[in-house]
Amino acid sequence: MIISIQWLKIPSSVHIAIICTLLLTCQPVMTSSEETYWITNVTIVDPIEGAQPSKNVLIKQGRIIEITNYEEADKVFSMRSIDGEGLYLIPGLWDAHVHYAFDDNMRPAMNALFLAHGVTSVRDTGGPLGLVTEVRNRALEQPTKAPNVYIAGPLIDGTPNVYNDSSPSYPLLSVENNSPTSIQSNTQLLIDNQVDFLKAYEMLSEAQYLELMRLASEEGLLVTGHIPLSMDLFSAVEAGLNGMEHLRNIEMSIATNSRELLKERLSILENPDSLSGAELRSSLHAKQRMNAIQMIDSTLLSQAAELLAQNSVWQTPTLALYTNFATREFLQEGQMSQLIKLPTKLAEQWRAAIEPMLSIAIDSNADIAVYSRWMKKMVQYLHTNNVPFMAGTDTPIGYLIPGQSLHKELELLVESGFSNEQALQTATINPATFLGVEGEKGRVKVGYHADLVLLKGNPLQNISFTQQIHAVIKEGAFWSISELDSMLVR
Ligand SMILES: [Zn+2]
Repeated sequence: MIISIQWLKIPSSVHIAIICTLLLTCQPVMTSSEETYWITNVTIVDPIEGAQPSKNVLIKQGRIIEITNYEEADKVFSMRSIDGEGLYLIPGLWDAHVHYAFDDNMRPAMNALFLAHGVTSVRDTGGPLGLVTEVRNRALEQPTKAPNVYIAGPLIDGTPNVYNDSSPSYPLLSVENNSPTSIQSNTQLLIDNQVDFLKAYEMLSEAQYLELMRLASEEGLLVTGHIPLSMDLFSAVEAGLNGMEHLRNIEMSIATNSRELLKERLSILENPDSLSGAELRSSLHAKQRMNAIQMIDSTLLSQAAELLAQNSVWQTPTLALYTNFATREFLQEGQMSQLIKLPTKLAEQWRAAIEPMLSIAIDSNADIAVYSRWMKKMVQYLHTNNVPFMAGTDTPIGYLIPGQSLHKELELLVESGFSNEQALQTATINPATFLGVEGEKGRVKVGYHADLVLLKGNPLQNISFTQQIHAVIKEGAFWSISELDSMLVR
């Protein structure tokens, strides 16, 4: 029964409590989030207030109820406690860009993978409404065993839409719109189903995009997305865009020939050859992207940064996605050994797909390599110019393992000029702020949800220490790393 399993998660100092509880088999089942316990003598690492050594943290009914100094220990020892000496307590991490709908074989394994890697909140940035609503509802039913799931519903795309179920690489993640009127009905459906934010996609016409922004603003919903290929960054942001994913299409708007590029795109978007959405988009990227990054105009760049900063347009660059392909990180031995965490069949599929690349030399001059280096420089520039950032990965796209890849993203943000503390903010308080829950999630503070990670190293000294997980606490439930491992769906 549930209670015995959950009580067994606590350290040996409280074995008496376990025995007592096991004997009370006829008592009503108490969920873990109703448990009360202290974590004693721990170093709190709050993303805003920094490191606070020698603290006791009281967790009750899924919340942080009290924080005291270790010296006030008499109170602590009167109830169940977990020794936090030598450990660091950070807020549960967020991956601000995931897709539950991308792979049906991965989806059942994703929640356990997120938790096992300390990811206690995720933002699903595109999937069919029914499917992602179901994922969100299931997570709400089991708050101690799943991350908090925030959803956009489908990508709101124009015509032809890109993610249209045409191949395993392009599953159905979007809704196609061929007029501003269809934008109204499709967006209203998402609003009625209480999505947490909206995502504008690349094939929208300008009229469709503007209609979407008007509806979102009426409802007070934030919109993230890709800059539509029919527009430039400046007009898209001035219309009220709140977030950008992958810095998508920024380069085309800040190249010296950006006006000509836009004109060329509008003509290609007429689609005389009736290409599919994916083909049409790829052809435009191929035609303009690499040329644009060779021709960045410094004035346009600084104007773009200023506009993004002034309007607080959140950037989720998904650096791990690009770097993974540029360096084929997934082929490294350490990374291949991580595949064991995936469902067996899926691990075999991934292995079969990536192993043939072992025999192909990595070309540091290949477009993907040049582009991923450019992205890091752009992230550094925008960050230095006060544009806000969130950590997100696009998992499970690009052979990025749910949860594990978030830690890679944090390392890449640090490589791109973020301090360790700033990187930690991108995966805690920043996404909480985007979703309007910054007063209850994303910090180690009294009154906040007890979504926490106990680490063996201080991530303010080395961001890679976010990977040294001792335990994860979700909605008050305390999971040791070995329990998290045993929960993985294989
Ligand atoms: Zn995505």
